[in-house]
Amino acid sequence: MLFSVHLKTEGGTGVMKISRHKLVKESARFDEVSKTSGDFGEGLPDTIVIHYTAGPTAESAIHTFKDPAVKASAHVVIDFDGSIIQLIPFNKIAWHAGKSSWLDRNRLNPYSIGIEIVNAGRLEKTGDRWRAWFGRTYGEEDVVKAVHRNENRETWWHRFTEEQITATVELCKEIMNHYKIRFILGHEEISPGRKIDPGPAFPLDKIRDRLLYADRSDEKEEMKAVNGRVNTAGLNIRSGPGTSHKTVMDPLSRGTEITILEEQKGWYRVEVPVQGWVSKRFIEKL
Ligand SMILES: [Zn+2]
Repeated sequence: MLFSVHLKTEGGTGVMKISRHKLVKESARFDEVSKTSGDFGEGLPDTIVIHYTAGPTAESAIHTFKDPAVKASAHVVIDFDGSIIQLIPFNKIAWHAGKSSWLDRNRLNPYSIGIEIVNAGRLEKTGDRWRAWFGRTYGEEDVVKAVHRNENRETWWHRFTEEQITATVELCKEIMNHYKIRFILGHEEISPGRKIDPGPAFPLDKIRDRLLYADRSDEKEEMKAVNGRVNTAGLNIRSGPGTSHKTVMDPLSRGTEITILEEQKGWYRVEVPVQGWVSKRFIEKL
């Protein structure tokens, strides 16, 4: 089945709705695609798997997924403008994960909804352009240089659009309203060594933290907050607010970024990540 939904990109709720396992929208288009293994079992799906299409357009991806000769399908395709084309209802098993494993599970298809985001994937630099495996080239504005989670050196990747990221988040939220989702995973995580999608250009960890572990991610954001910098050479960090308190570690060097936790009598309690007190006049606020 195939139909498309045009989304607002403001991330407003209520834009996307699932009814009877399908996205519902006035502009919905519907077509039969029969590449499924039937209904999910009891309590499933409980996982979302994120992919990129490694192709140039939504049309090329849909063409592939509709081809009976290709043993692959997915629940949805997300186009560059954030519009979503649904291929398979969310209560049917699609063929997107292939050989895969997670925790004690092998083969993730019977557990998961597959989201395919239109994206060229890894790119090769060629002159002042970047080339995809299928030959199309992209300019600097469409390219991200980053290290894949399963690799250790920087390579080039096709940039996802903001509309795609917003649509993915909104879709995941709406899926979570209807199914008890426990995991949001990248194909690269369930088939490492074999698959590299969605790759480092996609903010998977951030989205997962926000959607599945919202409280924890808030905490992490706070801990990551940097709001000051040491502006003297060798700043003592002490166990209390005053020079009578013992130092807790070696002096902080100039330029050290600190998080200010509280203020007392001209002193800041800071985290670097060790916690201690420093005289506030040697901290430049950011
Ligand atoms: Zn994939």
